[in-house]
Amino acid sequence: MAEKVVEIRGLKKSFGDLKVLQGVDLDLFKEENLVVLGKSGSGKSVLIKIMVGLLKQDAGTMHVFGKEVSRLNSKQLNELRLKIGFSFQNSALYDSMTVKENLEFPLVRNVKNLTKGEIQKKIEGLLDSVGLPQTINQMPSELSGGQKKRIGVARTLILDPEIMLYDEPTAGLDPITCMDINNLINEVREQFKTTSIVITHDLTCAKVTGDRMAVLLDGQFKAVGSFNEVFAHADDQRVKSFYDYNF
Ligand code: ADP
Ligand code: MG
Repeated sequence: MAEKVVEIRGLKKSFGDLKVLQGVDLDLFKEENLVVLGKSGSGKSVLIKIMVGLLKQDAGTMHVFGKEVSRLNSKQLNELRLKIGFSFQNSALYDSMTVKENLEFPLVRNVKNLTKGEIQKKIEGLLDSVGLPQTINQMPSELSGGQKKRIGVARTLILDPEIMLYDEPTAGLDPITCMDINNLINEVREQFKTTSIVITHDLTCAKVTGDRMAVLLDGQFKAVGSFNEVFAHADDQRVKSFYDYNF
């Protein structure tokens, strides 16, 4: 049995009267790629914000690498966040910085003992990994939407995360660029042996990148399993309609 990286039990989170998460249970295993599906406002982003300690749950537990996130002190939380690469919805590159400066930024802030040469080498290596070595001195405004996403992923990878969280990585991209990003997610996983969560509305992305799907409905994961298990044998009409809407 693979090592468990994340264990979520009975997780609840409300904002005032708005009940968002209402008893979420989930296991995430080392090097697997889990896709989280659910309509807008269902609490997908809230879930991963709790995972990185940006929000606190009202009840239940969120263990990451064996530790309950809400109990970590700020130093421990920083250590955890260095192991988790999260690219949030709408998280953008800094427009006034070159690609190189964008990639350098998290490194200089978090890893103090690297020489200039080591930093350069690392940036060049990552740009190779995402297939964009020629963009090193370009400004974000000179890049296409897909290229920006790739550079964003490279920036997230610069701290060697063990977990990658992709929040709607293909939202707003054309179908060809979506496929390009789906491929990137798979390449990253292959090359860096990351464990990942991909939040998406895009069932093609889900099918291509996910080992397992988890469908968030009414604040709980109602269906968890392989793509076929979840969609071919869906007993919940809303899980079915998710599929019908996409294909
Ligand atoms: P999604 O599944 O689209 O990612 P979210 O997880 O972002 O949805 O949000 C779920 C619900 O919780 C939404 O109704 C959102 O408005 C609400 N919400 C999220 N974060 C906060 C917050 N910090 N304060 C109040 N309400 C919030
Ligand atoms: Mg969201």
